[in-house]
Amino acid sequence: MAEIKTVGVIGAGQMGAGIAHVCALAGYSVRLHDVSADRISAGLAAIERNMNRQAARGMITVEALQGAVPRITAAVTPAEVGDTDLVIEAATEDEAVKKIIFRSLTDHLRPDTLLASNTSSISITRLASVTDRPEKFIGLHFMNPVPLMKLVEIIRGIATDPATYENAVDFAKSLGKTTANAEDFPAFIVNRVLVPMINEAIYTLYEGVGTVDAIDTALKLGANHPMGPLELGDFIGLDTVLAIMNVLHDGLADSKYRPCPLLVKYVEAGWLGRKAGRGFYDYRGETPVPTR
Ligand code: NAD
Repeated sequence: MAEIKTVGVIGAGQMGAGIAHVCALAGYSVRLHDVSADRISAGLAAIERNMNRQAARGMITVEALQGAVPRITAAVTPAEVGDTDLVIEAATEDEAVKKIIFRSLTDHLRPDTLLASNTSSISITRLASVTDRPEKFIGLHFMNPVPLMKLVEIIRGIATDPATYENAVDFAKSLGKTTANAEDFPAFIVNRVLVPMINEAIYTLYEGVGTVDAIDTALKLGANHPMGPLELGDFIGLDTVLAIMNVLHDGLADSKYRPCPLLVKYVEAGWLGRKAGRGFYDYRGETPVPTR
């Protein structure tokens, strides 16, 4: 069994930062990579902010924080990420982007490096096929926000070997997570169920069945959901929600997965949710205000 000590994380957005965060707290050395030094710095700053918040709430000790922060370093080049025991890709949910990343990484990997993708929906088998090691490739689907959410969905591609799977399960457990296995079908388990519900909530808004406020209040109080579906879509990122719906629509060829035109419009406007300051709510003031 390969021993994992160093982890490379590609993508320093909300998920990559969260994954780096939990890996560093669990004692792994982490190298964080993104398209630019600025993006990496923003990711590092977000991690420090989030760890400070956890420490202030007594969720982690100050010693744990002080130990973890220096364990995460910036990796400006792919070579710096490749020289690790496990690389987890958490870049934008776009198959072409992910394939370019994995293709360009191959030359920089050690022979024993394991590869994982945090994709929410894209075929692990297809992503693995562009690398030189599909047997060492697996889906490790963390949930958002990574430091708080217990689950990691584990997805084996057709070529993933049993040792890679065992390593991945042990690794997820070492982060304090619980795993659930999903087969390699579009959007796996969590997003196969969750994202069509968010899309349906957007149709309810589009068709005028309810306002943003009414839809979110109805699902929170009527179905006991901790967040309303539109609030949750904003939290995930509406570009990611749309990308997942497109993967479901293309991959399962069923019209029930068609993305709502209003979701498409929000993404075209750049109103991507919380990370963009505006989505179904406007987050630029003190409290979120519905945008419809
Ligand atoms: P995000 O938009 O916050 O971050 C994506 C990051 O990827 C950006 O910083 C971007 O600069 C970077 N990136 C883009 N192209 C790159 C490249 N070629 N090389 C290196 N970095 C690159 O998105 P996110 O929410 O962090 O999502 C990332 C991945 O995690 C996606 O695959 C998404 O489906 C998955 N995911 C998201 C959630 C969620 O709730 N947002 C949950 C689970 C999984």
